[in-house]
Amino acid sequence: MIVLLFGPPGCGKGTQAAAIAQRFHIPAISTGEMFRAECKAGTDLGRRACSILKSGGLVGDEIVDQIVAARIRQPDCASGFLLDGYPRTLEQAAFLDGAVRNQGLPKPIAILLDVPAQVLVSRITARRQCGRCGRIYNMFSQPPRIGELCDDDEAPLLRREDDTEEVILARLQAYDDATGPMIAYYCDGGCHRVDASGDPAGIAREIERLLAAGGAPDLTASTMLGVIAGSPQHGPRYSRLRARRP
Ligand SMILES: [Zn+2]
Repeated sequence: MIVLLFGPPGCGKGTQAAAIAQRFHIPAISTGEMFRAECKAGTDLGRRACSILKSGGLVGDEIVDQIVAARIRQPDCASGFLLDGYPRTLEQAAFLDGAVRNQGLPKPIAILLDVPAQVLVSRITARRQCGRCGRIYNMFSQPPRIGELCDDDEAPLLRREDDTEEVILARLQAYDDATGPMIAYYCDGGCHRVDASGDPAGIAREIERLLAAGGAPDLTASTMLGVIAGSPQHGPRYSRLRARRP
């Protein structure tokens, strides 16, 4: 089973990736982790990726593809794997198709963890950090005991500068713009939208149900695209939300 996990920042993708990996006994592979492992191993690819990352550049498709190809040839990927953060472009998706076919593995199942923009905005704007010890709080899900003061040292909690509604909406819009074509690409192979605004355990059960059923697509391509991109009349959903603000 090959699972591709998509979802905007703040959707809880890391938690769900770990849950799927454990339930189906497949490795959860994130691109960040793969890069760090290659860097550490000091392979030729790793050294190239490392020097690009250190200089603050973006690692190009060719290197990313080769790193992914090497990773999914490892023995622990023999009965499948989960990818988080890859593919990001149609070229990468086409490359992955070829690599998977070469290994005789089944077609990937794409899952979109969808969370309404407003829910993500309230989750992220509720984040606070202690200015003294750095402990992280969330005013909704993990609030401190007293007001906006750290439990450990009673220093005031601060909000990160880029955790504003405007910045978050722009980030979500960029995510949607990049992910729309990926979702469209995988729709005929089987794509699923999971409402990820509820509690993590419930979301994990929903994903498990989908995957245990063999990953048959539950949405048509056009419905799925409607979800991710908004309707043609109204444009993408996040800009719609932004436009509504005074
Ligand atoms: Zn503190």
